[in-house]
Amino acid sequence: MGGNSPCASCKLLRRRCAKDCIFAPYFPSDDPHKFAIVHKVFGASNVSKMLQELPIHQRADAVSSLVYEANARVRDPVYGCVGAISYLQNQVSQLQMQLAVAQAEILCIQMQQEPALPTHQIDSDDKSLLLHSNLNNLPQYLNFASTSNVIQDPLKRESLWT
Ligand SMILES: [Zn+2]
Repeated sequence: MGGNSPCASCKLLRRRCAKDCIFAPYFPSDDPHKFAIVHKVFGASNVSKMLQELPIHQRADAVSSLVYEANARVRDPVYGCVGAISYLQNQVSQLQMQLAVAQAEILCIQMQQEPALPTHQIDSDDKSLLLHSNLNNLPQYLNFASTSNVIQDPLKRESLWT
């Protein structure tokens, strides 16, 4: 930033922007909203304290996190960004459940068709082979479908995708 123009923070706080201003690298004067919203939600002195406690190479990430959280808090004053996170976690859980149900249905159809198919045909059909390999996972899918709970840790279910 130019030596004369104060950063967005100092402009809003109506103070002189010192050469070593802790806000200046992250809150340029051409984006006043960025600091305004962080100041409104966290308070300038808290933001300053948080930045001072961090090594310089982590400050930019901390600022983008604070800006994101502040915007989320303004949009959703009760839950803030936790609202967005749990919405996405619910979505992941629901999609995993749909996937498990669809895979179970595929297996059911597969097992119904199996007696009609000559065995050598299964070997030459990649799709059938793929579905057969899923047989090993069947108890897991059924278990998942029956005990599904949107609050359970969805990251632990990555095995469903493989
Ligand atoms: Zn400044």
